[in-house]
Amino acid sequence: MKSGDFLKILLLRDKKVILDIASDIEKVAAKIDKKIKIMHVCGTHEHTVTYYGLRSLFPDNVSVIAGPGCPVCVVPAREIDEAIELALNGVKVYTYGDMYRVPGSHKSLADAKTEGGKVQVVYSIGDAIKLAKTENNESVFFSVGFETTAPIPAAHVNDGNIPENMTLLVSHRLTVPALKYVLDDPEIPLDGVIAPGHVSAIMGASAWSFVAEDYKIPVVVAGFEPVDFMMAVDIILRLIYKGEARLVNEYSRVVNWNGNLEAKKLMNKVFKAVDGEWRGIGVLPESVLSLREKYKRYDARERYDIEIKEVLDLPPGCKCADVILGKAVPTDCPMFLKACTRSRPYGPCMVSSEGTCSIWAKYGGYSIIRRKRKSL
Ligand code: SF4
Repeated sequence: MKSGDFLKILLLRDKKVILDIASDIEKVAAKIDKKIKIMHVCGTHEHTVTYYGLRSLFPDNVSVIAGPGCPVCVVPAREIDEAIELALNGVKVYTYGDMYRVPGSHKSLADAKTEGGKVQVVYSIGDAIKLAKTENNESVFFSVGFETTAPIPAAHVNDGNIPENMTLLVSHRLTVPALKYVLDDPEIPLDGVIAPGHVSAIMGASAWSFVAEDYKIPVVVAGFEPVDFMMAVDIILRLIYKGEARLVNEYSRVVNWNGNLEAKKLMNKVFKAVDGEWRGIGVLPESVLSLREKYKRYDARERYDIEIKEVLDLPPGCKCADVILGKAVPTDCPMFLKACTRSRPYGPCMVSSEGTCSIWAKYGGYSIIRRKRKSL
């Protein structure tokens, strides 16, 4: 890391700067005579706000809730079951560490490995390709993630860099359709949106202009340091106070208006958006990526006859669907830190480092949330 970058990070975590913004937030919020609900759609933002205890700095009429921002949590149980089915039938499944322990209908890939299934955790599709080339067995890369991660497998597919013995079990999802679904739901009235920085680096700030234009609420693209997040909340409150529904790019040091054109081109060349399931939510139009016809030879679902008979999308009593949609917080779930813990996760949101239940379980802060929820 260059010394300039280090100083920048120190400034973006500076307590005095954070408290100054908090004081401004308080002043602006006091002038707005209503309760304000702001949603972010990114697991890393939830990590920032919880890890740094930022909710404790917001006034009582301002609440910040997590939306569908964990890419692992929203992979439907059916698709995890597909990976498990392959692993138990002799196909080597390469998966990210976050996906390894997420329960499908009845078990996780980790359980499948214990039962003799072929599963290996990798850091990237590049690692999976290297391993598949040296091993002769049939293999599958479980390709999950939002727009941030999809361009990388797209590049490997486009370059024909996938070995003969390997295919992709594609489970990528798109954040914009999910946010539209939330914004269309009258049960989740929102006053502002904090757009995800990583996704925006690929898609461009312009991807979120529909929030201001169609839903008439402010939207701010934000980075992941505490000052970024505080700035985003402050900007949203100021826009609400002025009665302006605008898109603001707070994260201009990384995100531009149009995004990474090369990455978007690759993604569109290799994948197309199709209707698809989200865990606990159901089918959302054009929200899931599928390999285009030209690349179907890389599609695990084409190569193998994967038959999943019974799907249990969420286990009984798990409130993950409501947590993902911002209708509940983890402490609303009676199993939180009782029947569902980080070492023994019952629902998907307790597994991934981007899952809201997992973040809350690790960093706490529930009393603040309880106090705020009472006031809303
Ligand atoms: S605490 Fe566990 S069971 Fe409850 S919503 Fe979170 S992940 Fe699901």
